[in-house]
Order: sequence, then C-alpha cells, then structure tokens
Amino acid sequence: MTEHLEDLIVRAIAARDGDAPELEELARTAPESLAPYLPRLLAADVVYPAALYCAADDETQRGLVAEADAGGKGALRLNHLLAALAQTRGPVAEEAFRRWRDQPPPGADKLFLTPAEYMPEGGWTLEGDRARELCGPVAHHLVAEAAEEAEESRIPQERCRGCGAALWTALDLDTADARVAGALVHAGWSGRLRLVLCYGCAVDEADPVFLGVGPDGTSRLSDPPEPGTGLPAAGAPTERLVPGHLSGPYPDGSAIGGRPVWMDDAEYPRCPACGKLMAYIAQIDMQDISHMVGYHTFFLDAGCGLAAMVSQPE
Ligand SMILES: [Zn+2]
Ligand SMILES: [Zn+2]
Repeated sequence: MTEHLEDLIVRAIAARDGDAPELEELARTAPESLAPYLPRLLAADVVYPAALYCAADDETQRGLVAEADAGGKGALRLNHLLAALAQTRGPVAEEAFRRWRDQPPPGADKLFLTPAEYMPEGGWTLEGDRARELCGPVAHHLVAEAAEEAEESRIPQERCRGCGAALWTALDLDTADARVAGALVHAGWSGRLRLVLCYGCAVDEADPVFLGVGPDGTSRLSDPPEPGTGLPAAGAPTERLVPGHLSGPYPDGSAIGGRPVWMDDAEYPRCPACGKLMAYIAQIDMQDISHMVGYHTFFLDAGCGLAAMVSQPE
C-alpha cells in the first residue's frame, strides 16, 4: 500500500493536481496515512483538494499559513490554501484564522468569504476568540426501526395544521443512549430530542425549517403553516430511523454525529434567536425514507432550544 501511495503522490506532483479518487478516498478513511507526504505536496504546490490536508501536522499547517501570508499567487490559490487550513482543524491554523480576522492575508479582499468563514468546511468555527466544534467526534448509522419496536412506540399521530397529513418523526433521540450522547456531545444537548414535522409542508422549502425543541421531547415548528393551506403529500414517510452501529467519521448514509455530506459548499444555518452557527447533529439519506435522492440535514442550538432541517435534494 505504501508503495502504491508513493506512486499516487508522485503522479499528483507530476500533474500538479491531487484530485485523484484514490487520494480522496484515503483522505476520508485514513487521512493520517497522507500526513507524511503533505510537505512534498505543499512544496510542489498541490494544495487541492483541501481534504488531503485533514491530518496535517503543525509543521505542514505552518507551511500553509506561510504561503497564504506570502500572497502573490492569486485568489484561486489563496482560496485553496484557506480551504486546506480549514480541513486541518489544528492549533496553528486556528491561530492564523484568528489573526486574519484583523489582518487578512494579501489578496483576501478578492475572495467571497473572509478567511474564518472557510472554517465550517472543516466542521469548526471561530466564536469570539476560540474555536467551536460544529460536528460530532463519532458517528452512528441511523437504521430503520425494527417492526416490533415500531409497533410499541406508535403513539396517536399528530397531524399537520397545514394539510392534515400525519406528521413525520424525523428524529427521536435521547442522550440516555450512550451512542446519542457520544455523537452529539459537541452540541451540548441533554435529554430527549424529537423533531416532528410535516413532510409535505416542510420538505420542499429551499430555506431551513426551524423547530423549537425541549429535552422532554417537545417539538414545535417555529413557523407552522396556516390551517388548510396545503395538500397532503403522496408517499410521506412513516418509518422512523434509530441509532445503529458505529460508523466512520464521514458517514455517507443516514447517521447521527460525525460530519455531514454537503452536496455543495458547507452551509451551516444560523440560529434565528442568537445568530450563531448551529451545530450539525444528523443527516437522513432521502432514499432511506422516500424515493427522492439527497439529504435532510439536521442542526441544533441547544442553548436556544432550536433545531433546523436543511433539505439538499440532488
Ligand atoms: Zn402539511
Ligand atoms: Zn441560538
């Protein structure tokens, strides 16, 4: 494998491009295996894709920071350097992002984002003077509930005010379950977390759907539809997904914790109450519950008692 990896690195350096499926796969599954090669990739100016730099050590982070501070190679390159630093999630990168808030690197004015706004791509953010985790340290798959359990947990179903359809229990988690507590530790939630909404009225929204939530399992849409304003959707899901076995940190199916799949750039919703980025908590692969392709991605601000669902259809 090492020999093969050496070949991949040599090829990436020769092509001045690290965009190879095998390298990306390694970056997702065993990023530390790439770490020894990063100084060579950086020296050869291979800083794309950013995920290659997930496991960059302090020295490599310093190299990326120095390149960004040196400027002079254009906005696209600075964009790649900042994206790579965001993936490192390391102390050197953190210090640089903090410094760049007041003194951005040369050329940063040509970018669409401020340097610190790159951090969420790596699953973290700067809040005041410290970094905050937006993602879970571990992940568990979400799997269809066994039929007997589904029968037991069947409670009289609430109905949508807008269209009259039965509501969908998107998530029903409890930190009493060690898997849930571990996957959601970064979110600071304690207790039951239930997200109940109308699939027909809430899913087609381009904007996040917000729900007020409480540790007793309370779930209330922040902006419920007016009575009689919708038609029940055909094929609304009825099954509930529950925590299953441990997954890697980058699950690509339904899961709690770890890092979400983004169909496009990472876009963590801001809490409507306090304006801070909400923590990612879970994603549902639409194919597990419907005939659609894409993800429902869920976020939480435990302090404000607000959850959000973002739908990313393919
Ligand atoms: Zn409805
Ligand atoms: Zn908030």
